[in-house]
Amino acid sequence: MSRALSTPAASGLETPRIIGRFESGPGPRLICLGGLHGNEPAGVLALRRVLDSLRENSLPFRGRMVAIAGNLRALRGGRRFLDRDLNRGWSPRGMELAENLRGTSAEDQEQAELIAVLRAELAGDRSDTRVIDLHTTSADGPPFVTLADTLRNRTFARQIGLPLVLGIEEQIDGALLEVLTGAGAITLGIEAGQHDDPVSVDHHERAVWMALIAGGHVSASDVPGYQGMRQAFREAVRGLPTVFEVRYRKPVAPEDGFRMHPGFRNFQEVEAGAVVAEERAGPVGVPEAGRLFLPLYQEQGDDGFFVVRDVHPAWLRISAGLRRMRVSSLARWLPGIHPARRRTDALIVDRRVARWLTLEVFHLLGYRKSRVTKGWYVFRRRSHDSRIHTED
Ligand SMILES: [Zn+2]
Repeated sequence: MSRALSTPAASGLETPRIIGRFESGPGPRLICLGGLHGNEPAGVLALRRVLDSLRENSLPFRGRMVAIAGNLRALRGGRRFLDRDLNRGWSPRGMELAENLRGTSAEDQEQAELIAVLRAELAGDRSDTRVIDLHTTSADGPPFVTLADTLRNRTFARQIGLPLVLGIEEQIDGALLEVLTGAGAITLGIEAGQHDDPVSVDHHERAVWMALIAGGHVSASDVPGYQGMRQAFREAVRGLPTVFEVRYRKPVAPEDGFRMHPGFRNFQEVEAGAVVAEERAGPVGVPEAGRLFLPLYQEQGDDGFFVVRDVHPAWLRISAGLRRMRVSSLARWLPGIHPARRRTDALIVDRRVARWLTLEVFHLLGYRKSRVTKGWYVFRRRSHDSRIHTED
């Protein structure tokens, strides 16, 4: 993974918090985030390009687009973060701490500034508000999208035209998009490829255009080079299944001395037991067959790698049907499952039951695992998991 030092990440990037806006009358909102990780400048560069093109071509435009830069201090230094990962700590408690600046880290300051900007941008009705969060990876590989698995997010993801990875937010606590999904926005994470690969900027630029089209801000026929963009996405993901789910996360801490073996790409197939990394304690094997995902090829980060596996598209159709019919409300009548006393969106599940009623069933019904205690799992239904807003 050696890269020339003249890359944007290595040289750092100066940007104001608001990269730019484009607005024309009332209508949908698109909030774009770039550079939440400071060694991922591709998103910021792509957003500048799209805004320039919108201004130069004066395309017919509806509603509002705003492009926001994430970690300004880390972008300047070309580092993932200075003191802590800015894409963590978006729990109510973490946000409160950052806003009151009870911590002293560079990222507390960044988070407090971002919260203020996002509050202003998200004010009012959020039913037609989309948020995309642009990232890149330390490993090479094709572009893809990540999403909290709600039906509205799935529809948005399909309109982008890249493979979907489900379930990453169940492995990572306190990511920014999780909180924005909960606040009622339609959200997607977009991963464009390797941090310093110029093609990653191109992919992000294409993804932003697709998001503008999906939101009804511009029409495809007005976008310069639209067909070429679609074609470029098709070529970049050729031969890849369209849906994946995360099966495993290898956590790492600095003292582990974790070193990924060189040369792995995102979605590369691996056998169960294959040794893919070393750490102080010895060789690190893959626990089950699947595809290697987000292997760590940078100093900073606490995910060593993930394993994902293909999901048959029929599974998504079945689960969408069940959720629309609200079959999930029947789950509480099954043995070993109790509704939580104070939360209508939560189920408490006996782990002995969860052994035969697998995690997949709960995912299918739109629940995510939120807590594990000694004998119980706590599952929570995602809010805003339908086209129409419901009481939950
Ligand atoms: Zn990132």
